[in-house]
Amino acid sequence: VASMRMDKLLANSGYGTRKEVKKLLKTGVVKVDGEVVKDAKVHVDPEVEEVTVHDDIVEYREFIYLMMHKPPGLLSATEDNRQETVVDILQEEDKIFAPFPVGRLDKDTEGLLILTNDGQLAHQLLSPKKHVPKTYYATIDGEVTEEDVIAFKEGVTLDDGYETLPASLEILSSGESSEIEITIMEGKFHQVKRMFQAVGKSVTYLKRLSMGKLVLDETLELGEYRELTDEELEMLQ
Ligand code: URA
Repeated sequence: VASMRMDKLLANSGYGTRKEVKKLLKTGVVKVDGEVVKDAKVHVDPEVEEVTVHDDIVEYREFIYLMMHKPPGLLSATEDNRQETVVDILQEEDKIFAPFPVGRLDKDTEGLLILTNDGQLAHQLLSPKKHVPKTYYATIDGEVTEEDVIAFKEGVTLDDGYETLPASLEILSSGESSEIEITIMEGKFHQVKRMFQAVGKSVTYLKRLSMGKLVLDETLELGEYRELTDEELEMLQ
């Protein structure tokens, strides 16, 4: 971490929004190496200088890791001119970290979405070489059969000619409409939907349940999120 503005440092350390932090600074309770600092624009290096609030040392943290139960209707992006994104619904105190979604879920897809500002972790999870398994629950229009299970295990050819890696498909219920769980090791655009398209069926509902060892916390309602625990973070590394 290099030096950064005082308001950013305090906001990132949990002392409120930038606006709240500015007010706090004005009250004269913030010190850098023992000297009162009131200017939000002053640059400080938390690794070299000692910043205190009410004489408590500010522990700076650089990264944020969030688990969201993505609701349908939001884009997996940081910003969009017209449509609401998953970042738009974050609290201001979390937005200050500039988190971004790790990979994309379609606008109509629900479920586990990780948001972080840790580019290295995001890269590890998304790298095609790492084959991080992702498990989805889906409802399918049509009868999913054992032939589909075999086809997915062998890999299917998508509309653009791409041959998918082996995927495991589990039929939960089968009939006019079916319920399944599928685990894929890659993340092509609309992959699950296109895999079913390849066998002549369509996905009517899609929800991501897990990514690597990290499982969606089902106590989170649609649109809710929380920080990852230390154990969960370790699972991703
Ligand atoms: N596969 C899809 O088709 N859509 C998603 O959102 C995720 C995986």
